[in-house]
Amino acid sequence: MSKLKILEFPDPRLRTIAEPVSAVDDSIRQLVDDMFETMYDAPGIGLAATQVNVHQQIVVIDLSEDQSEPLTLINPEYTVLDDTLEEMQEGCLSVPGFFDNVNRPQRIQVTSLNREGEEQNFVAEGLLAVCIQHELDHLNGKLFVDYLSALKRNRIRGKLEKKHRAEVSN
Ligand code: ZN
Repeated sequence: MSKLKILEFPDPRLRTIAEPVSAVDDSIRQLVDDMFETMYDAPGIGLAATQVNVHQQIVVIDLSEDQSEPLTLINPEYTVLDDTLEEMQEGCLSVPGFFDNVNRPQRIQVTSLNREGEEQNFVAEGLLAVCIQHELDHLNGKLFVDYLSALKRNRIRGKLEKKHRAEVSN
């Protein structure tokens, strides 16, 4: 396994639309394993392939505290089961150090393939529903900061650009 580099906002590659995975083979499973290692190391609760500059529809999630509930979503889709929006604080490994509230539906029906390439269908609620929507946004080139005001988003962009310039010159 190897750790992958996570792209950070406002890197334009985070705006790429991911392609569906045509076959879940060993190379995809290797990528999934590397994504889990990268996410656990960060640490984070979700990671989309877009964030490691691989533009295929792959997401890994683990909401447990002891890395015991790995969830792999390949070619995921969802439908909203309850339109009621609820506010939850979100963060993102591609927007390190910033957290803000986003309104999203809290109950969704998810269809995807798993790490073995088998179809999986389930209902997600609460934090899991929010996390899945956040990660699927990544696959469509969208970030949680897009839900914030332009003022907030530009302030975050400015601070991260400054951080990136400091990293380059060090
Ligand atoms: Zn994210």
